[in-house]
Amino acid sequence: MSGNESRLKAISEITSAKPFETTMTDSLKEIWACDVFGLEQMEESLSKSAFKAIKKTVQNGAELDPAVADMVAAAMKDWAMTKGAKFFSHIFYPMTNATAEKHDGFVVTNSDGGAITEFTGSLLIKGEPDGSSFPNGSLRMTNEARGYTAWDPTSPAYMMHTANGAVLMIPSVFMSWTGEALDKKIPLLRSNAAMDAAAQKVLALMGEEEIATLNSSCGAEQEYFLVDENFAIARPDLLLAGRTLFGASPAKGQEFDDHYFGAIPERVQVFMQDFEDKLYRLGIPAKTHHNEVAPGQFEIAPYFEAANVAADHQQMMMTLLKSTAKAHGFLCLLHEKPFAGINGSGKHVNWSVGNSTQGNLLDPGNTPNDNLNFLLFCGAVIRGVHKFGPLLRAVIASAANDHRLGANEAPPAILSVYLGSQLEKVFDDIRTGELHVPTTGGQMDLGLSQILKFDRDTGDRNRTSPFAFTGNRFEFRAVGSSQSVSGPLVAMNTMLADSLEWIATKLEAKLEENSDKTAAVFAVLKELMEKHSNVVFGGDGYSSEWHTKAVEEHGLKNIPTTADALPAFKTPDVIELFASTGVLSPVELASRFEVYAEQYVLSIEVEAKLVIEMATTMIYPAAINYLSSIASTGLQLEYSPATAVAEHASAMMASVQKLSAAMDIEEFDSTEAHMTFLATDVRGLMDEVRASADKLETLVADDLWPLPKYREMLFIK
Ligand code: ADP
Ligand code: MG
Repeated sequence: MSGNESRLKAISEITSAKPFETTMTDSLKEIWACDVFGLEQMEESLSKSAFKAIKKTVQNGAELDPAVADMVAAAMKDWAMTKGAKFFSHIFYPMTNATAEKHDGFVVTNSDGGAITEFTGSLLIKGEPDGSSFPNGSLRMTNEARGYTAWDPTSPAYMMHTANGAVLMIPSVFMSWTGEALDKKIPLLRSNAAMDAAAQKVLALMGEEEIATLNSSCGAEQEYFLVDENFAIARPDLLLAGRTLFGASPAKGQEFDDHYFGAIPERVQVFMQDFEDKLYRLGIPAKTHHNEVAPGQFEIAPYFEAANVAADHQQMMMTLLKSTAKAHGFLCLLHEKPFAGINGSGKHVNWSVGNSTQGNLLDPGNTPNDNLNFLLFCGAVIRGVHKFGPLLRAVIASAANDHRLGANEAPPAILSVYLGSQLEKVFDDIRTGELHVPTTGGQMDLGLSQILKFDRDTGDRNRTSPFAFTGNRFEFRAVGSSQSVSGPLVAMNTMLADSLEWIATKLEAKLEENSDKTAAVFAVLKELMEKHSNVVFGGDGYSSEWHTKAVEEHGLKNIPTTADALPAFKTPDVIELFASTGVLSPVELASRFEVYAEQYVLSIEVEAKLVIEMATTMIYPAAINYLSSIASTGLQLEYSPATAVAEHASAMMASVQKLSAAMDIEEFDSTEAHMTFLATDVRGLMDEVRASADKLETLVADDLWPLPKYREMLFIK
């Protein structure tokens, strides 16, 4: 196909597509978690004693007896085979944001040449994928060093169906033979344990007698775009980079605000319902869906779950979003900024910590004691964000998310905390000593429950803050749409563990010198706020005044790019944070810097190559065709676009030359220098090529333009 043929074919295919056939769907009751091998299924198929043992492992992480593992494996295999599975796979989460699987058959041959099936406890517990092709950041230097996967019983096994088969999927951790974490699950499990240990100390000091294991919870709101796949096929940039590297702004964008919460197009609604039925089968509690701000943009949010399970479910959701979209003729874009000038996509990570005895510790609660616990945990978060703001910025850093952070649509690249006016005042009063306690001993009701009766749905929800308190949880809003939620959860749990340790030490000392608990809590929080109140900000995070003030008066860091953000992993305080909490050893942390830096470099290199190729082989030829068609008319017009087209085409190719030359540079003093070069020089040149190309798009005859245009991709469904 030449010229615009593929583009025109895409439009005709889409507009002539047949409407969907009506199919009745199954009821929620029938399908809910039907593809999950959970406790209920185990109870049905195991002996009483085996079930008791595995339940302990699932709920409290108790070690698994090999004999019990064999029984669980046999039950799991039987269950899976009745559902049509012939294969099983450990599924794990390497340091990229993707998932990895290695499928193995249940089948083995016996001595008579017949086939039987086999699945033992050791196959369930341990796998040995050839891990050498996964990024490991020098953690496995030698060739013989293999990677191991191991079942994580706290996340249930489940079935994945395709048109003609099914696979039993076993959520697993991934580690090197020396026991180093090569994945995103191990640090998450460790961060929960570190947070639990520190929280136990604080709660015990607060006089709590029964304290169940604490866990973190996560509810992630996922934004995404849908583009008809006929358009996507005609756009090499969408296919290979997940975003448009070219494209002039459409005459109509999102300025009418008519898409947010608007009626969902029927074709999209059909897709959503299909997708959500798949989630329900897997026990993923899809809860809300709606149109987002940009045309063609949507959001789905499941109900929150234990962080470890939520993180696995989040990965499944991203996989299923893509595959279900494909079945409906869409390309699902999870990229943080698929269209320049149009809102990008994020993933709000709602996070809280709690247990079955004290409940949600980020919920103010109703008794004075609940309120004191709440203030301590909330204070711990404030301290954490202040001390480890650059770490929080680093865990959300990617080439794609750099396009969003700092633009006036997404939280700024400056980490601050929004508390809401009521709670901000409480913490301010604690800092200044306004909210003090008479030291007459005994526990007092200060009427805090009155002061702290927060409106759950405060109307003034600040959408411009990267990190906001929303009534009973914190919402980390700067996370990118394509990212695993594990990195942010690990950072939050670990910084909380560190802060709770600090609080426990201070509180213990205060309690020794003064037995009044409330006074001790307030004294500790006063000291905490004197050091860390600068991170609290309730105003407009998008305003340029804040960007100046945050840096100059609050001493916060503005970290615009991944190149600036990733070195946080190498700072002594972050190394110490992860080492002291046992979440990541210094080598494990260093390997993460290497992997993320490499990903950054690779993704910009892919984009730069695509820019060169598309400008040279698609856009320049379109401009030349147009020029020759004008020339062939022989008309001498007073106002001809030919001059402008010739100028922009030649400027574009000059920029392409410069970009090619920049890409030829191979020697850099350090990874940091390489990243900075890509963030500034290379990205700058890519923008230069694009500026000329986008001008050409507005000049060249529409019927000669090869790439589907923004107006088509965003508005034709
Ligand atoms: P909004 O768009 O107003 O932020 P949504 O309903 O779209 O709200 O998403 C809120 C998310 O927060 C949901 O995933 C919800 O389950 C989750 N959530 C609610 N309470 C908690 C909590 N205590 N801890 C963690 N997540 C929570
Ligand atoms: Mg939200």
